[in-house]
Amino acid sequence: MKLDATELRYVLPDEFRVLQAVETGSKNHEVVPTQLIAQLSKITGGNVNKCLGSLAKRGLVSRVQGAKYDGYRLTYGGLDWLALKAFSKRGTVTSVGQRIGVGKEGDISIIKGKGTNAWNEDELEEQEIQMTGEEETRILKIHRLGRISFRAIKTKRDYLGTRKSASWMYMSRLAARKEWEFMKVLYEYGFPVPEPFDQGRHCIVMSLVEGFPLRQISELPSHVTPALLQAKLMQLIVRLARVGLIHGDFNEFNVMIKDKSFEPVVIDFPQMVSVGHENAEYFFNRDVECVRRFFRRRFRYESDECPDFRQTMADLADELAGRAEPESGLDPELDDDEVFERSDKTILARRGKVRLDELVEASGFARNMWQDLEQYMNDVSAEPGENDVSSEGESEDDDEDESEERLSRKLKAKMSIADGDEAPELHDNDEDDSEDDD
Ligand code: ADP
Ligand code: MG
Repeated sequence: MKLDATELRYVLPDEFRVLQAVETGSKNHEVVPTQLIAQLSKITGGNVNKCLGSLAKRGLVSRVQGAKYDGYRLTYGGLDWLALKAFSKRGTVTSVGQRIGVGKEGDISIIKGKGTNAWNEDELEEQEIQMTGEEETRILKIHRLGRISFRAIKTKRDYLGTRKSASWMYMSRLAARKEWEFMKVLYEYGFPVPEPFDQGRHCIVMSLVEGFPLRQISELPSHVTPALLQAKLMQLIVRLARVGLIHGDFNEFNVMIKDKSFEPVVIDFPQMVSVGHENAEYFFNRDVECVRRFFRRRFRYESDECPDFRQTMADLADELAGRAEPESGLDPELDDDEVFERSDKTILARRGKVRLDELVEASGFARNMWQDLEQYMNDVSAEPGENDVSSEGESEDDDEDESEERLSRKLKAKMSIADGDEAPELHDNDEDDSEDDD
């Protein structure tokens, strides 16, 4: 799937309205009838067809000739375009650079954008806020659920109800929304996660972590022992549980290690679960086991002491009831990860006195949305995919080859941003500024 920001400027105002109409119509129609598009866009007959033809040529919509009627479908390219257009209008994305990751269910690109703490503005979109200030290099993550396996599971499941027709779009938006809500709250409560800047449709803009996935780390600096690094990661798993959360995919791909400080940063949250989940213990222990297995294989390190879900929750209950003191590693006073100490909220979180799962739910990411996504994730994880990389039988050599390739790709990406090439400017010079988002 191509993400080409240079295309943004070439869509005329009428075409833009037609594209938005196709998006709106997709919420209830698998194939949006041409007549409905005309109605929604308020553009009449011949002109609608002309706009649709031009959008189809660029792959933003695709024409479907059905048994009952002809119509159009929004493509991923079309959804990308709408999302980027909104970001560019706000200034949270000003140019798009190289793609550094193409996962089964997401694309990661380096971008430039403006604005700080955009996420503090509740209704960023409605308020039509324009970012000011310096451009910074950041990350755009585009969720693409359903790109591979939706067709297969679609027939099996009926959990989407009337939204079924736009399932890939709905699931991708949900995943982005979920990741966004968690990233915001985790960042706010002092967890080492990227800083969230903006979200719209199926995309998130976040800070660039200057470092590499743990997967690519084969040597540790002299002041970091495997024991120390593993303990840090285990402590993160425990800290998350103490605020009500289990990452659910806490592996060497989703932990980044910062270049300078060698501190871990956790990414990729669409499969996060609450400690109240019926399988919480299983997910917690699986996260712990993922870390153990990686350290065993990569560093030949094995520790006897690893966190256990029940023990973690029992310790927390004792502390909250005043029957015990927190362990030293969990006491913020004794902690040295300077960067993430931001506020009293960090301390609350360390002491387990806040439930982030509840905060997220209260933020509007309702339980049924959470469940829809979980159901989908379960179905997909039952399908074989190229992301299933952590099976025991895999050879270390393969690991190394792959990580080198990724490393060089990533370095290239960083360099091209620094040189200023590969980063086409986005122009927002449409006449028609009456667009809205969502
Ligand atoms: P996926 O759902 O495809 O696994 P991730 O969020 O895990 O998506 O991102 C995939 C890869 O992209 C990561 O392993 C990492 O290399 C890179 N990446 C993601 N987010 C960032 C970020 N904020 N800063 C730097 N690299 C990132
Ligand atoms: Mg990942």
